[in-house]
Parts: sequence; structure tokens; C-alpha cells
Amino acid sequence: MSGHYLGLDLGGTKIEAGVLTDAGAILARRRIATSELRDGPETLPNLVRLGLAVMADAGVDRVQGVGVALPGPVDQNPLRLLAAPTIPEIEGVPLDGPLREAFHVPVAGDNDANACALAESRFGAGRGQRHVVYVTVSTGIGGGIVVDGRVFRGARGTSGEFGHQIVAHGQGPRCDCGATGCLEALASGRGIAWRAEAWLRYPEAPASALRGREPLTAEDVAAAARAGDKLAQEVWTETARCLAIGLSNVINVLDPDVIILGGGVALGAADLLLPPLREWVDRICMPSLSRHTPIVTAVLGADLGLIAAAVLAMPAAE
Ligand SMILES: [Zn+2]
Repeated sequence: MSGHYLGLDLGGTKIEAGVLTDAGAILARRRIATSELRDGPETLPNLVRLGLAVMADAGVDRVQGVGVALPGPVDQNPLRLLAAPTIPEIEGVPLDGPLREAFHVPVAGDNDANACALAESRFGAGRGQRHVVYVTVSTGIGGGIVVDGRVFRGARGTSGEFGHQIVAHGQGPRCDCGATGCLEALASGRGIAWRAEAWLRYPEAPASALRGREPLTAEDVAAAARAGDKLAQEVWTETARCLAIGLSNVINVLDPDVIILGGGVALGAADLLLPPLREWVDRICMPSLSRHTPIVTAVLGADLGLIAAAVLAMPAAE
């Protein structure tokens, strides 16, 4: 059956609405700043108006379903965002009822990481695969697990917290979750900056163009590594090693068809990260599995968030 789906991607800084075909093609899209949506009790009605406006842009008077991607932990029943520092107006507010009433169709939602996992598995780098792991490496590290074309949510909806795998207990900075040795603390954008700054403080650290430029970002460390900076290159090698430990654990436990890496750090520094990452996975992972598990980058680019929202409303592929 062919049809149209409305995707509502609620991000921390921007809100995007779009009408998509069930093949993932975007017919129309609108984007506003999150601050423009926020207006006390009018926040949810504003979201409905945005959805209706983009449907009018697409020349569509009804859709088969509405999908909502949310920037935080999500409860499914009723659909609500449990913590929403960037859109406090909808924190804890049931969304499925009001949206179903406004659009007269089924409503489905999830956190953005699970939604992106489903989108990349259906329309992106995991197309045609049954079991897909999506890992996003940006300021933090998260992701989602797709099993047989459906998101695996776990008992409490918190599966896919790849960033809180313990890969080096007792080492590195304390993670936001309270533990030490979490992958996120060691290999996220913040972890990369932390590692570079920590190494610069060693008296025996090699000369580095990064010295005196603290506080650093992952982009600073990437630019320096590409320019031949030894310390920066070492930071990426060590980051790749930490990520490889995490991904090898995932491969050994889940045996996915493919691992897809997304997020600003993984995509922006794929040239620095992927070659040593694959090498380390080959060394660490069970040999029979590492040979068969490609590690690739996400391909949906700037459309990912919108496709991710809409795909939530689409029936699972057979
Ligand atoms: Zn953690």
C-alpha cells in the first residue's frame, strides 16, 4: 500500500515537520526554531499547526500516520517525553491522544536515537538488512537497535545506551551517569577533548599545535591530526581503540548484520576514526563475527531526522 506520512522531528534547537512517501521521499518540509514552537499551553497546538501547514505545502489532505521523534527518554504508554530541558512545556505531557485527535490517524513516537536507527535501517546504510545497530558519536554517544525491522526497546525503553557500556572501569573522567570508564566519557566529542587536554598536561607530551589552545573541541583535535600533529593523531588512535572495545562487545553479543555510525564526530572525522577502528575490531572481536560485520557510516545526512520521525509511523517492512 502506498501512502503519505507526517514526520515531526522535535530537536533541542530546531523543529522540523515533513510529509514523506512510504518510500522515504520528502514531499514537503518546514523548519522552525524550537524557541518559536514554545508558547506555554499553545506549544502542542503550535506543533499541530506546523504539521497541517506542511501537509498543505505537500498538497496532501490526509496522511496514513504521524511519527514523532523526541529529544530525550520516552514513555510509550501514553507517548510522552519524560525529560525535556529544551521543551519543558511538553515534559510528561501525553502527545499521542492530542495528535491523534488533530490528524485522525495513528501516532507513533520514540526517542531520536531509536528513530534514526530505524530510518537508517529502512532507507539508509542498513537497507535490506534485518538486524541493524546504529551508534551515534557526537557530544555524547547513543544509538538504537533494530531487530527484524523493528526497534528493540528493552523492558523500560532505554536499550541502545551504547555510550554507557563500561569499557575501562575506574579510568577517565566521571560520566554524566555517575560511572567511570563509560564509552561516552572516553570516546565522545567531549571525551576526545578531555583526552587531548589531559595528554597536553603530561610533562613528556610531544610538542603539539594544540598547546595553549585549550579548551579544545573534537574538531580542533581532528584538524590538528590531519595537519600531522602527533599528539592529536594519538588521541584519535586511542579513541578508535575505546570505540572498538565497545563495538566489539556489541558485535559479540548481538551479531548484527551491520553497524552504522552516525553523529557529528563519527561523520566529521570518519577518515581519522574508521581505519583504526576497523583494525582494532578485527583484533578484539571474535574472529568469526568481525569478518562478517561491516562498520559503515550513516548516509541519510541532513534528511535523517525528518525521515527518522516519519518512519516511526510506517508499518514494519515484511
Ligand atoms: Zn555513563
